[in-house]
Amino acid sequence: MEFEVIIGLEVHAQLLTKSKIFCSCSTVFGAEPNTHTCPICLGMPGVLPVLNKKVVDLTLKVALAINCRIAHYSRFARKNYFYPDLPKGYQISQYELPLAEHGHIDILTNGKPRKIGITRIHMEEDAGKLLHDEGMGATSSSYVDLNRTGVPLIEIVSEPDIRTPEEAGEYLKNLRSILQYLEVCDGNMEEGSFRCDANISLRPVGQQKLGTRAELKNMNSFKNVQRALEYEIKRQTSILDEGASVIQETRLWDEAKGITLSMRGKEEAHDYRYFPEPDLVPLIIDDEWIEGIKESLPELPNEKKDRFVKDYQVPEYDAEVLTTSKSLADYFEECVELFPNPKVVSNWVMGELLRRLKGDDKEIDERPVSPGSLAKILKMIEDGIISGKIAKTVFGETYLTGGDPEEIVQKKGLVQVTDQGELLKIVESVLIKNAKEVEDYKKGKSKLFGFFVGQVMKETKGKANPKLVNEILKMKLNL
Ligand SMILES: [Zn+2]
Repeated sequence: MEFEVIIGLEVHAQLLTKSKIFCSCSTVFGAEPNTHTCPICLGMPGVLPVLNKKVVDLTLKVALAINCRIAHYSRFARKNYFYPDLPKGYQISQYELPLAEHGHIDILTNGKPRKIGITRIHMEEDAGKLLHDEGMGATSSSYVDLNRTGVPLIEIVSEPDIRTPEEAGEYLKNLRSILQYLEVCDGNMEEGSFRCDANISLRPVGQQKLGTRAELKNMNSFKNVQRALEYEIKRQTSILDEGASVIQETRLWDEAKGITLSMRGKEEAHDYRYFPEPDLVPLIIDDEWIEGIKESLPELPNEKKDRFVKDYQVPEYDAEVLTTSKSLADYFEECVELFPNPKVVSNWVMGELLRRLKGDDKEIDERPVSPGSLAKILKMIEDGIISGKIAKTVFGETYLTGGDPEEIVQKKGLVQVTDQGELLKIVESVLIKNAKEVEDYKKGKSKLFGFFVGQVMKETKGKANPKLVNEILKMKLNL
């Protein structure tokens, strides 16, 4: 039987505020355990939470950027469950009245545009962190660090509109890029500031009713999300093919084994006994507040992409790659400012620069070659001081040492040979040394032209001006 895959994603993103959502404790990562705590985030009896306005501002930014409808009236709710990292015995979240609903994100899969619906965005507090020591049996202990308790999160829930693991990856990349452009979240999946859970089910093609879903957790990279979904599609297909039924449950992705494992039966919302948080007043947001946030929104990836195509006349594909991150887009624009030939800049950024960064697993933010250095290299090619080939060598040297491209060219004597007389001598000696090839060439083996060019380049260690070499060779070979 043919099945249709239905995927919905839940993303938890940590907001970049200085203090926690309901108290003034610091959110800085990596402090000594339990030093960023107070009676409020420790869940002491009798304390009262106070909402951090900045959390609302940042959430509104996201809501507007992904086309959500903002609720003028929303409220917080208690989600009750027991776990040792949750001191109050409940998490303050939003339930029946979230801050924003009914949005969408536009993605491209295989070159085709797709609209993925956003069900809702709500604000909530993070729980603490358990640390388990490696001891065995009676000596083993667990510790709890409550620094993370009360750190602000937003949960962004998608509609079940995603159909393939690739689309899921595309959606996540787009969403993360938007959050980074907005500077509301650093998007670091390994450190857990951008986490994704996936709901996945299968149904026979043509059937309206959704199949039973599994919820997948513990995927800490885009690649792992895709791998886990691919595994789950195979697992559920084989269950359904046998005529059995999928169990609704939460499954953990095991990266090392490449499989998902049953963790627990999936809770339903009613298991959490949600009820309105009595210690916080409802959140009222007026139009003025929304307008203020709207005005503060930066240019978003899709807008930037369109502008790159229009203003710089780079191909759509280039614009797409160049705007994948704000840092890369900024880098490109800084270069174009200094060397106003956008297509040439784009070729070098997408070629040499990204290839090397990818190979070294580095980020553009580390800027091993500054926009100024790249512009200098391109200017030297344009002025005929170095050839394109030598330029790559210079780029490599700058990339590794951070040295100034002009100094590298001077010091290493890489200036292009453009002296006609000098080149003529070299061409003549090459033709004499390769008399046999010259004969073959004249008999019609025209491919040998490239060989002669190569020999001249070799003699000059790549420094000969290729255009001049071509001209002189043509002349000497009587063309
Ligand atoms: Zn606190």
